[in-house]
Amino acid sequence: MPSSAVPLYRIREMAQSTNEENLIPYQYYTSEAECNIEIKKSKLGGRGLFACRPIKQGSLIFANKPLVVGPRADCTGVFCSVCYISSDSCYPCEKCQINICSEECKFSPDHVKLCNFVIDNWKIKSNPQNNLDISNILIYLHFLILSENKKSILKIYQKDKTKNIQNQIKSLENFKNIIPPDQITFIHMIEELLKVNSFRIANSVDNKKIPLRGFYPLSAFLNHCCVPNTRNIFRTDYEMAVYATKDIAAGEEILTCYTGLLWCTPARRVQLYKTKRFWCTCSRCQDNTERGTNLSAVKCLLRKDCVGVLLPIQPTNPTTDWKCDMCHANVSSEQISTIHSVLGSLVGTIDLDDQFRLESLVLERLAKFVPYSNQIFVDLRFRLAVKLGFADGLKLNELSESRLSLKENLCRGTLRVLAALGVGDAHLRGLVLYHLHAALAERARRYPDLYEELKSEIENCIEQAYHILQGDISAPPDLELRHRYLGPGCDKPQEEKFFILDK
Ligand SMILES: [Zn+2]
Ligand SMILES: [Zn+2]
Ligand SMILES: [Zn+2]
Ligand SMILES: [Zn+2]
Repeated sequence: MPSSAVPLYRIREMAQSTNEENLIPYQYYTSEAECNIEIKKSKLGGRGLFACRPIKQGSLIFANKPLVVGPRADCTGVFCSVCYISSDSCYPCEKCQINICSEECKFSPDHVKLCNFVIDNWKIKSNPQNNLDISNILIYLHFLILSENKKSILKIYQKDKTKNIQNQIKSLENFKNIIPPDQITFIHMIEELLKVNSFRIANSVDNKKIPLRGFYPLSAFLNHCCVPNTRNIFRTDYEMAVYATKDIAAGEEILTCYTGLLWCTPARRVQLYKTKRFWCTCSRCQDNTERGTNLSAVKCLLRKDCVGVLLPIQPTNPTTDWKCDMCHANVSSEQISTIHSVLGSLVGTIDLDDQFRLESLVLERLAKFVPYSNQIFVDLRFRLAVKLGFADGLKLNELSESRLSLKENLCRGTLRVLAALGVGDAHLRGLVLYHLHAALAERARRYPDLYEELKSEIENCIEQAYHILQGDISAPPDLELRHRYLGPGCDKPQEEKFFILDK
């Protein structure tokens, strides 16, 4: 059984070695006998995780518990510091001023530990403002209360030393006279650490928790690729489990994707540079068609009647010219940026919540600039596919026939893009398969005579979706139930199977 104690212990050994060379390789065992992965120098920079043996698609590579979990940097509003429920009824603890939602959370070991630390170390009583917002620096407080042993491993991780002032630093200003200087220095170090090493924790859509991020001692070694070979699952205790989305050969690097999989190359690269401080040069980034998906393509407006699309000539160069694939005319990167900002503001006006009456005017204007292969349309199709049948007042059984077919087609379109990108059993694929299954199952519920015809695809979709999403806190709540009733091997009569969908 993989346990977080194992990697923590080994990583501590690495930290205690002062010689960088001695830090590698470090091997991680998933069982007594079998070495699964090792930490080695990576061509991508720094260290990375590598397969020690062939790893089969769908298998668990490793799991690790977070060293620290806390709110994301952009988190706003009032929330409980213990259970992370967002609620206006949260109130500050009279001793430490940290927000809690209930007596239960107040007397939880988590709060007591924070509370004691703040009372013992911070001049909280002499605070004249009396309304300090500790929520903003909560994640740093969690690092401060770590044992010295655990703190010692932090020094082996990469830090972002570019010193760009973030909102968090501004809020730290208010704490200057409250937190001792050595702790302020420590907080700055943690900020540099989190900038490049934290993972967003995908939460369930219907629980009322705030957006969270975590620092994972082993996952932090995962390098990025725009066509990753893994997917992440976050369990209810925030444990992060990493699964193979395709077969991985011995010696191959284990890679994750820090951006959206459906984003086009310019969008991914800028985001990676802004958040993680590097310019990706993976094979997808070097291919201007992104494996034939043309996600970044813009319509050629240079010649009248030209039906070609513009693509970057050198996609890894941010100032590259773009070239039409039909008339071969060139456009500068500045002109492309102008088009992108127009598109951005157009997309900003689309309201998906507006009962899906996607303003046809906006879509028409978008279609003047970009082909349907562009990521803007790919993203809209995906969001609509997921929303149809799963929004208030627009449940599956309330969808018109045409909207039900639309949902099915949108799912199939998104699956085609994911297949072309070669991302294997990515999390996103699991989600889209779940929605395709839901659309097909709803059709079979309406027309029981069609069930035999649809049965194998329904079973196949929910089976795959289940294997990809199982155990994830952001998975659809009825995934388990649908898999049990509509997956392969269920011997319940047809009416009973669909009874669960009637509810
Ligand atoms: Zn609470
Ligand atoms: Zn307290
Ligand atoms: Zn890339
Ligand atoms: Zn052209």
